[in-house]
Amino acid sequence: MLKKGDRLVVATHNPGKVREIGDLLAPFGMQAVSAGELNISEPDETGVTFAQNACQKALHSAKSSGLPALADDSGLEVNALGGQPGIYSARWGGPDKDFAMAMARVHSELEAAGATTIEQRAANFICVLALALPDGTCSTYEGKVFGSIAWPMRGKHGFGYDPIFVPKDHDITFGEMDPVKKHQMSHRARAFEIFTRECLS
Ligand code: IMP
Repeated sequence: MLKKGDRLVVATHNPGKVREIGDLLAPFGMQAVSAGELNISEPDETGVTFAQNACQKALHSAKSSGLPALADDSGLEVNALGGQPGIYSARWGGPDKDFAMAMARVHSELEAAGATTIEQRAANFICVLALALPDGTCSTYEGKVFGSIAWPMRGKHGFGYDPIFVPKDHDITFGEMDPVKKHQMSHRARAFEIFTRECLS
């Protein structure tokens, strides 16, 4: 259990994630400091699961700083593609982070697989949060949001694969949804809910 006033490293070099995680930790009185501010290098992601990659990042920061560290790893899993792009979600965007290209690839692979109905185009976003301690222990907390892949892309909000993901029981994509509403139901929100319940008082 982490306590009020504890310093916690947010193990990411992505300023958007630092802000988002910092905001989520603030009500618990945690002092969030980013890996970038501490000049901690970015480790390679060599794991084959979200949990392995999240722990790799969190452990690297915890061992480098001597402080507890929190990391996340997330992505899109499409059932008919055997869970792809999965841990390769960011990498499908290529060096230019071209997610229009990545979304077109998801759609064309679904077409090739003959997946046309909502059921056949089922998918989920997943987020795994990892809390590592300097002694080398690491615990993970997983959140998912289920839905299906739409085509063509719709909406200008969000990032990554948001314009093709329609959450279950909705008829708009995350790209069309008010970001406040997305953040209430997202895979990241669900993972944080479990993390805060189990680790913060
Ligand atoms: P990470 O930074 O290694 O966790 O990469 C996650 C990748 O998964 C991102 O680059 C996005 O492409 C995708 N992703 C994760 N969460 C979301 C989301 O909420 N909306 C859209 N795409 C997401």
